[in-house]
Amino acid sequence: MTPVVALAGGVGAARFLRGAIRALPTDSLCAVVNTGDDREFYGVHVSPDLDIVTYTLAGRVDPAKGYGLRDDTYALVDRLAALGHETWFRLGDRDYANALHRTLRLRAGAGLAQVTDELRRSLDVPIRILPMSEDPCPTYVELSGGRRVHFEEYLARDGAPDDVRGVDLSAARSAAPAPGVVEALGEADAVLVCPSNPVVSIGPILAVPGVAEALAERRAPVVAVSPIVGGAPIKGPADRLMRGIGVEVSALGVARLYRGVVDGIVLDERDAALATEIESLGLRVAVTDTLMTDVDASVRVARAALELVDELR
Ligand code: GDP
Repeated sequence: MTPVVALAGGVGAARFLRGAIRALPTDSLCAVVNTGDDREFYGVHVSPDLDIVTYTLAGRVDPAKGYGLRDDTYALVDRLAALGHETWFRLGDRDYANALHRTLRLRAGAGLAQVTDELRRSLDVPIRILPMSEDPCPTYVELSGGRRVHFEEYLARDGAPDDVRGVDLSAARSAAPAPGVVEALGEADAVLVCPSNPVVSIGPILAVPGVAEALAERRAPVVAVSPIVGGAPIKGPADRLMRGIGVEVSALGVARLYRGVVDGIVLDERDAALATEIESLGLRVAVTDTLMTDVDASVRVARAALELVDELR
């Protein structure tokens, strides 16, 4: 029984979840995480968002980067670079070991959901973490001149250029939800949409057949936290991707994207002036300082989302 399900991307989601696990009993929270960024690097299956969420909730994330493991070393990628390999994806040695474990377990026939659970238990993460799907769901970014690149190539290799023309979620659209995802959503009393990139983190989760339907059927309140603060993302390319798919870069743009899926949205106080227009879309609005600069701030944002859930009940 998992009364609260959180849909999650990477860094923004992880910061929100570290608050949510303190605001709720841990056995009542489950994160369903984007796997659209997954890709093979150096022979291993890397799941960036699953790892960011797991490492953050384990208290082991590199705090400066928001991803990777604190105090990791880079002997493996440095040696590969010396041998002439492309090493733009800087995977640390311990991080690599976790990805190698994932790869070996998958090769031995385990599912990604099971391996994700093994990894989070091995790091003493107290909540369930589910991949959105066990099928490959690569997200592609379409750029000017007809170029099309995997999301990690767009972000980590190319530095997130702004000539985005579209985002291809077709793999997610034909994937099956991972075991446990539809069940968790079916049992949920509330669904939280973490402050994550709405286009390439939450978009792929909602694109997996059965996920949006399970949300609609359940009719549990669905509350999002805006990742856009003061008209811009805190970090990352959400602005370029939103613009690229023709959505205004603002909390109002986020609300328009989520319309029909979410019942309420937590806005940052810097965007309070947008509340009336967002309410006219039919969404309930709460306003708070959503900058999750430390754990206490994360708890405050999580509580604001849970209070909005209560108002919607
Ligand atoms: P990524 O896959 O690692 O980029 O992570 P996500 O998809 O989870 O999150 C990226 C989004 O999180 C960006 O749009 C950020 O603006 C948002 N974000 C990061 N930190 C914060 C924060 O402290 N408050 C809010 N409201 N949003 C945040």
